[in-house]
Amino acid sequence: RFQSMIFPNSKLMDYFFLKPSWHSAACSLNSVLLAGLARYPVLSAASYTDSSDDETSPRDKQQKNSKGNGDFCIKNIKQADFGRREIEIAEQEMPALMALRKRAQGEKPLAGAKVVGCTHITAQTAVLMETLSALGAQCRWAACNIYSTQNEVAAALAEGGFSVFAWKGESEDDFWWCIDRCVNVEGWQPNMILDDGGDLTHWIYKKYPNMFKKIKGIVEESVTGVHRLYQLSKAGKLCVPAMNVNDSVTKQKFDNLYCCRESILDGLKRTTDVMFGGKQVVVCGYGEVGKGCCAALKAMGSIVYVTEIDPICALQACMDGFRLVKLNEVIRQVDIVITCTGNKNVVVREYLDRMKNGCIVCNMGHSNTEIDVASLRTPELTWERVRSQVDHVIWPDGKRIVLLAEGRLLNLSCSTVPTFVLSITATTQALALIELYNAPEGRYKQDVYLLPKKMDEYVASLHLPTFDAHLTELTDEQAKYLGLNKNGPFKPNYYRYENISAIHANLFHPNFYIYTNYHLLLYFLFFSLRY
Ligand code: NAD
Repeated sequence: RFQSMIFPNSKLMDYFFLKPSWHSAACSLNSVLLAGLARYPVLSAASYTDSSDDETSPRDKQQKNSKGNGDFCIKNIKQADFGRREIEIAEQEMPALMALRKRAQGEKPLAGAKVVGCTHITAQTAVLMETLSALGAQCRWAACNIYSTQNEVAAALAEGGFSVFAWKGESEDDFWWCIDRCVNVEGWQPNMILDDGGDLTHWIYKKYPNMFKKIKGIVEESVTGVHRLYQLSKAGKLCVPAMNVNDSVTKQKFDNLYCCRESILDGLKRTTDVMFGGKQVVVCGYGEVGKGCCAALKAMGSIVYVTEIDPICALQACMDGFRLVKLNEVIRQVDIVITCTGNKNVVVREYLDRMKNGCIVCNMGHSNTEIDVASLRTPELTWERVRSQVDHVIWPDGKRIVLLAEGRLLNLSCSTVPTFVLSITATTQALALIELYNAPEGRYKQDVYLLPKKMDEYVASLHLPTFDAHLTELTDEQAKYLGLNKNGPFKPNYYRYENISAIHANLFHPNFYIYTNYHLLLYFLFFSLRY
């Protein structure tokens, strides 16, 4: 099944890989952009402190951009200049998308594409949207999270002619209204979906199933959304091909791991001013996101516990030096609880009741289902908003917990994330859209596909010049010896790109490593003899 999900040789690959000039274009473009940056002072995270005190709902405002276009709904179009600077700063760290744009000056691989998107609306997404537009696509966009929109960026996009429906602090009703405004429009029907979390796809399935007749494919970014797609596929209800960007190596090993490693501390610090040294933290889930969070907290001197349901990830946690526990064993003593499982009801009311006074509770997973926040909306508990995105929930005996972003993902709600990491994901998304849009009839069936390794390698290579990194080329003799094409792919699809801490663990515990393999061997022998 895994093999069948990898898409076959594609024309897109030739399209990109036969043109090595792209690589050098990315390098030179980077230096041009850096020179341009000097025009602007470095801005701090504008989205975090939106000082606007205008409480009017954007839905009740009539706004137009300078060209008289009003097909958008955002907080305040007057913030467009500020947002434009944010976008220009993001461009510096997104070399691959800028290279795609340069390339598109001659060719428009997305000409005629009508992309409806539902992602975090940040400066990085704006660079992606403007790249898609440069490649020939028309875009309409909504936010996949009610807190993560950078209002000034949404304003810059609206000023630039994009139909954006999003603002920071939407209500649940606003959220679905914005999605609906993206798809339910006269004279415009999407033919591509770019989703993060599956809500947009779900909405179209529920409300406008006929739209799928014209849709050529779905590109989905998140674990949660991909999970939903596989469920649809399993039930035989997926009616168009879908590209699973989340499981492409460049997304998972970079976005999930490095993005969270770099942003978890920032999100906690900005909201709570907490000191990390010596604090006891429990991280639920030791997947890519959990690994990133644990590594950052450990480096700051926190005492980190991990909970896991999967023995493989659990063993990784142990070998990386973390104590594997059940949540109920540590819930009374920990200072911080972080969920990153992509699951639901991981932290339920029973655990919230037992937490100690001042315990910080937050979520790094995609949706707000990991912490059972609804169970805290009962009459005996008092909610006190102490800062933007920070609530104290107070028990009758005076105990309070500090709930961040109402259980929504912390880093995107309360801090910023590293642009360079998002550049890798955004480039992968753009390539996936190009591939699905241009694929001839029959190449993709109504199933979920992974990007081929070679495309991952290509995305990675476009980002190397930023580090002035010099990649070694295989000699003919070496290529022959390893049985590889000199231009890649360099690894088989099953290669895992083990995370660094796990590699260290294996190197420093050779006996344990051998012991583990030895037991696996015995296990297989036992089963092969038995059956
Ligand atoms: P993953 O599948 O690699 O890891 C999730 C881990 O949680 C798995 O190892 C799983 O076994 C474990 N798990 C599941 N249920 C559990 C439970 N009840 N208790 C303990 N462990 C449990 O996924 P990932 O890439 O780490 O992503 C996790 C979530 O974070 C997803 O929702 C994803 O969309 C989101 N995400 C967030 C960011 C961000 O910037 N905050 C970035 C990428 C992904």
